[in-house]
Amino acid sequence: MKNSIRLKITAGYVLLIACLLIAVMFLMNQISTLQTARNALLTQETKVQNLTSNLEKSVLNMNRSQRGYIITGDKDYLEPYNEAVKTWEDDLTQLKKNFSTQSIQKERLDAIDRHLQSWIKEAAEPTIRLKTEGDEKGIQNFYTQDQGQSEIEIITQTFTELQDGEANYLKDEMKKLDNRNTNIIWFLIIFLFSCSIIATLVSSFISRSIIKTIKYTTNAIKHISRNEGSLKTRIPKLTKDELGELAVATNELLDEIDHREWLQSNTSKIVLDYQGISSIRQLSNVFLTNIAKITQSSYGAFYVLDEQSSAKMAYTKQSVFANTASDLGRDSFLLGEGVIGQCALDRKPIHLKDMQDFRMLSTGLGELTPREIYIVPILFENQTIAILELGTIQRFSELQIQLMEQLTEQFGSSINSVLRRMEIVQLLNESRAMTEELQAQSEQLQAQSEQLQTQSDELQKQTTQLKKVNTELELRTVDAEEKTLELEAAKESLEKSTAELMQSSKYKSEFLANMSHELRTPLNSILILSEMMSENPNANLTDEDIEYASIIHQSGKDLLDLISDILDLSKIEAGKVDLIFEDVHLQTFPSQLEANFSHFGNENNVAFHVKLDDDVPDTFFTDAMRLQQILKNLLSNAFKFTKEGEVNVQIKKLHPNHEQEQLTDDWVQFDIKDTGIGISEDKQQHIFESFRQADGATVRKYGGTGLGLAICREFSTLLGGTIDVTSTEGEGSTFTLALPNLPNGLKSNDTEKTSAVEEVSETVPPAEITEEAAEASLFVDKHILIVDDDQRNIYSLEKVLHQHQFQIAYVENGFECIDYLTDHPEVDIVLMDIMMPELDGFDTMRIIRNSLELEVPIIALTAKAMKSDREKCIAAGASDYLSKPFDINQLLSVLRVWLSQKEENHSWKNSSN
Ligand code: ADP
Repeated sequence: MKNSIRLKITAGYVLLIACLLIAVMFLMNQISTLQTARNALLTQETKVQNLTSNLEKSVLNMNRSQRGYIITGDKDYLEPYNEAVKTWEDDLTQLKKNFSTQSIQKERLDAIDRHLQSWIKEAAEPTIRLKTEGDEKGIQNFYTQDQGQSEIEIITQTFTELQDGEANYLKDEMKKLDNRNTNIIWFLIIFLFSCSIIATLVSSFISRSIIKTIKYTTNAIKHISRNEGSLKTRIPKLTKDELGELAVATNELLDEIDHREWLQSNTSKIVLDYQGISSIRQLSNVFLTNIAKITQSSYGAFYVLDEQSSAKMAYTKQSVFANTASDLGRDSFLLGEGVIGQCALDRKPIHLKDMQDFRMLSTGLGELTPREIYIVPILFENQTIAILELGTIQRFSELQIQLMEQLTEQFGSSINSVLRRMEIVQLLNESRAMTEELQAQSEQLQAQSEQLQTQSDELQKQTTQLKKVNTELELRTVDAEEKTLELEAAKESLEKSTAELMQSSKYKSEFLANMSHELRTPLNSILILSEMMSENPNANLTDEDIEYASIIHQSGKDLLDLISDILDLSKIEAGKVDLIFEDVHLQTFPSQLEANFSHFGNENNVAFHVKLDDDVPDTFFTDAMRLQQILKNLLSNAFKFTKEGEVNVQIKKLHPNHEQEQLTDDWVQFDIKDTGIGISEDKQQHIFESFRQADGATVRKYGGTGLGLAICREFSTLLGGTIDVTSTEGEGSTFTLALPNLPNGLKSNDTEKTSAVEEVSETVPPAEITEEAAEASLFVDKHILIVDDDQRNIYSLEKVLHQHQFQIAYVENGFECIDYLTDHPEVDIVLMDIMMPELDGFDTMRIIRNSLELEVPIIALTAKAMKSDREKCIAAGASDYLSKPFDINQLLSVLRVWLSQKEENHSWKNSSN
């Protein structure tokens, strides 16, 4: 019988109710027993009570009636006595029966019996007899002793004891009954408790047996969902009830889904595997191998309808699975031929089971007979297009057969499409082969025509070459003659140029020498006289006069410095500097420098220190004079641009770099460091160029010409060294001079000393000419054309330039300038503003240079100080460039440079003419 859930639950309930019934019956039985016992006790008690009181009453009656008779002598009084004498013994016997289990009570009854008998015998009967006999005396005698009275007292006493004994007995019995009652209650509690436990156990057993299967089912479903559709989990059949059936049903459902999934996944795997295959043999191989493996077949063959075959509807073997050494299966068959041919004809699968004598499967050990063979036709458009035959040594399961059928249904169209594709490929290959052949033929033709062309070109070339050779031979003869003439002419002009160059160098040197002396001489007197004046020896000058004089003196000094600088520079440029490499004692430098420059520092409260490192060599070969000149320049700059802080010189040994090592290993470095205004990075490279200062403001504030550093650099180069600057604007600058130790001097300086400048400058005595005279030679009556649209600019320039005795003309725009220059060839120099209306400076300069072809120096003046301005001006034809606002000294310097150059050119031209 099936252990259904309903049965389990009913059994549980029945068990519980049975327990309860037993408990109730037991309880009722116990209660009735108790009741009976109590009733029996009460009945007995009542009986005992009655008997006892009857007996006692009999005793009392006998005693009272005996006494009444004795006293009255009335026989009526004896009536109760006689009655009692008859009954008391019965009562006593009955009582004794009731006390059969109580020995003490029984003894008490015996005592009453004895004493009553004794009273009757010894007191009652004798007295009654005496009375009856009328023996009053005997009675009196008897009562004087009264033996009966003590017996009665004992009997009364014993009755009391008997009643007490009975009460105690009753009490004990009641107590016993109470105990039994309590026991029953306890039993009931224990019984109910046990029932509850049993009920709980039974219900938990039942619920567990129900829940267990439900849990398995739930877990199985969870497992499936957790393992993403793995349907391998099954629910164990734990019980034989409805839940067991649920497990079985669920397992069946899972099996079904599993099978379907198996079918689906294998189908899609095989379909995927043969996607993209374009050969029928490969397709058959892939398909057969896959399906045979999946269906665990031991043998398989695949035949496809051969469209090329001469026989109508012949199928040829395309692929075999588990091939034997002796090729498996027949190679081809016709429609309807044999079982397989019949299958193709019927278009229905054939399933051969329990095969006997079908020897064909070869293993390593021998041959096997397949147990089952399954042949399936593969259809396309209702025609058998291929046949699949599979054999197994086991049995094909229903599922495997389903798979085979399902696959073959879809496979027909794939085979057909591959067959069609193969046809197309074959056609394509044929057409490609034909195209290639055509191409090869056309290439051949092309090559032949090219060959012909080349041959004809070559013939043409050879003809031209022959003609050319002829002409070339003629030309070469003429050329050779011409070149001889040209060479002669070149030689002549070279000689001429050399002579001219020498002449020009001589003129320049002479000019510089003359200028230097012509300027120095008047300067001498200016300096002397102005110094004298500023000292005011006659005390007849006003403070203003004295200040003018000292300004004249200072300017004179500056001019002298400038002249020296220009002279130095031009000497260096001309390569006419005479260097004397001698032993310089560097050890003496600190004290020398401190002695010469401390006063600069003291004037401005700027600290000054010179430090000489210990490893600096004692003897050092260089030109002492030039070195000092460089240091002097650098130091005076340092003090000039340092208003507070310090100026320091450090002399140390320098570890030469690769380039420096080429000259010598022995180098010394001089660091001149100040805490002054510093130089912005973009200006640092330009300050070493002649006439370049950090900016226009420097000129206004600190004066100077911009030649000092140019000279320093030239000198340091002459000494074989370098000079560089590192500086931060606002924090200070460090000028670094690196010099080599050259005991034998520099090779390049071993040039011939033909310095006219040097000789002249050292030998010619100063001429007595004034400053004005010196400038007059250059500036006086020189024609300057100012081109500017701003009247204020023109006015200020005019004023300044008038002082220097220039001849000044001005125009207000480019067109006027061009007209003026065309009419006035005497203009010596043009000051050209750039920003002008109508025709600007750039265009004007271009016209002057390109159309008028004039070489007159043009100084471009522009308010914009852009970096590219200079290049633009020069490209447009400017000779030089000044950015506004410019220092008048700068303008004069520029004018001086260009006028002197112009004069030089002029004199050179004159002399060469
Ligand atoms: P200058 O006669 O104007 O001093 P230099 O050739 O000696 O001519 O110097 C060129 C410019 O370099 C100076 O005008 C100044 O702007 C800058 N210069 C030179 N030395 C220093 C320095 N120690 N600190 C700041 N600026 C300096």
